[in-house]
Amino acid sequence: MANSSTKLIILFFTTIITFSISPTSNAPDLDLRLRTDPDAIRSASSDYGNLVKRSPHAVLYPSSENDVVELVRLSNECPTPFGIAARGHGHSVRGQAAAHGGVVVDMASLGRNGSRIRVSWDEALGYYADVGGEQLWIDVLRAGLEHGLAPVSWTDYLYLTVGGTLSNAGISGQSSFYGPQISNVLQLDVITGNGYLVSCSEGMNSELFLAVLGGLGQFGIITRARIVLHKAPTRAKWVRLIYDDFSMFTSDQEHLAMNGNGPNYLEGSIITDKSPPNNWRSTSFYSPSHQTKIQFLLKANGGILYSLELVKYYTATNTNIHKEVELMIKDLRFVPGFSFKKDVPLLDFLNRVGSLEGDDKEEEAHPWLNLFLPKSQIMDFHAAVILNLIHTQNQTSGPILFYPLNRQKWDDRTSAVVPEDEDIFYTLGLLHSTKRSESHVFENLNKQILEVCQRKGIRIKQYLPHYEYKEDWVQHYGSKWTTFQERKAKYDPRMILSPGQRIFTPVMESDF
Ligand SMILES: Cc1cc2nc3c(=O)[nH]c(=O)nc-3n(C[C@H](O)[C@H](O)[C@H](O)COP(=O)(O)OP(=O)(O)OC[C@H]3O[C@@H](n4cnc5c(N)ncnc54)[C@H](O)[C@@H]3O)c2cc1C
Repeated sequence: MANSSTKLIILFFTTIITFSISPTSNAPDLDLRLRTDPDAIRSASSDYGNLVKRSPHAVLYPSSENDVVELVRLSNECPTPFGIAARGHGHSVRGQAAAHGGVVVDMASLGRNGSRIRVSWDEALGYYADVGGEQLWIDVLRAGLEHGLAPVSWTDYLYLTVGGTLSNAGISGQSSFYGPQISNVLQLDVITGNGYLVSCSEGMNSELFLAVLGGLGQFGIITRARIVLHKAPTRAKWVRLIYDDFSMFTSDQEHLAMNGNGPNYLEGSIITDKSPPNNWRSTSFYSPSHQTKIQFLLKANGGILYSLELVKYYTATNTNIHKEVELMIKDLRFVPGFSFKKDVPLLDFLNRVGSLEGDDKEEEAHPWLNLFLPKSQIMDFHAAVILNLIHTQNQTSGPILFYPLNRQKWDDRTSAVVPEDEDIFYTLGLLHSTKRSESHVFENLNKQILEVCQRKGIRIKQYLPHYEYKEDWVQHYGSKWTTFQERKAKYDPRMILSPGQRIFTPVMESDF
């Protein structure tokens, strides 16, 4: 028999979502945690991208994992199930955490009754942290540092949730050496699309574990992740080297990426008039005089330069660090006189972007494009895309990241998709910021980039992917598609979870 609160939910959904059977689930007070008021709906209807608006019928503010389990079961019991999306910090750019006409789960609510980060050690696993899926990486970092420990793999921006980045991959300059964040997880608790709360790891329910990592929220909602911790260094030697030649820039990057005794962090970016050396990723790395010097070189080099960024961590007892860094960069082929160095506490380096919260302007949009591309095709990509489109059109406003990743550090059994067959692939991040009214200009540029790659046979894979059509998803997953589909049928057969990714769910349009 359904209790009174469940009846309320039934009433709510029968009116709005039109289903008719009575769920037998027992969810005390679940209705109290479901909100349908305009503020709740508005907060869950758009995201950091500010490009699409997709409104749910309700937002669940769970007080426990059980509330989420009950919600998922409730949907399963409906003749026509409603979509459910976990919303981490809403930092997707294309409505991936939306549930148009369904229910968005405000994951942050799970952490409202106190910290859900616990640091532990055991002989078999070493140091690790059990962390709620809703936790922000900045809080994981702070909690670890209290014990002199830290995760090894990061994103550039730390105000993202653990569940959100593990659903993608979680990449940054550490990924070449330690793998993406999904390669540094020991265990997960997941609420599957069937409505079961399951613990999983490499040795226990391993198929679910591998499916969820990089799984775009399709198989389950991560409520806990066990993250590997290492002893934390205390400081970072932070270096940027400017190149005027793409080929030297990338071959030096590759040399560093594959060098065991090299840096702990390696990235790179492209500098143009519209993508200046200082930007929101680290607002004050360069002094005004350094900026002027780089601007002169930029002009002399036809308006394009390449910046290699590396970091070596250390502790105060290492008095040799200066020499180690000098040795590391000695034979690199940057423009003489164009090396810039900083020495900062580890926390300042990892949290270099800070919080962008106050910067979320209503009229600002972020039509980002993130790609992976095989190393063997970067010269073609440079000519056709970087020079011919990005540089020539000179529209890109925001950072342009370009750095190599080491495929050996990725587990091919997870759901994450990277270019096949080559040990090194590159990531391009076009992190556009623009007025919403002008976002079409950048959307158009992104479209041209994808078209050129297709025409020239450059085998790109989108990171943080966004596709309109099922055929595109099938192509995106390539040889992984069959497994991806089979896992969906097993863990979310009624296709309830993360409908905003639009992989299995028909498009329900409601863009701005
Ligand atoms: C300023 C900025 C900087 C960024 N920098 C990087 C970077 O350096 N490296 C990088 O890899 N990415 C980066 N990203 C991208 C970011 O990793 C993804 O957008 C990520 O999904 C954001 O996390 P979120 O918590 O906001 O997730 P949301 O946007 O809320 O959700 C993303 C997807 O994951 C699902 N999801 C959310 N929580 C869970 C959960 N607990 N369990 C299962 N599914 C869940 C959602 O349903 C949705 O499908 C950046 C994004 C921004 C805006």
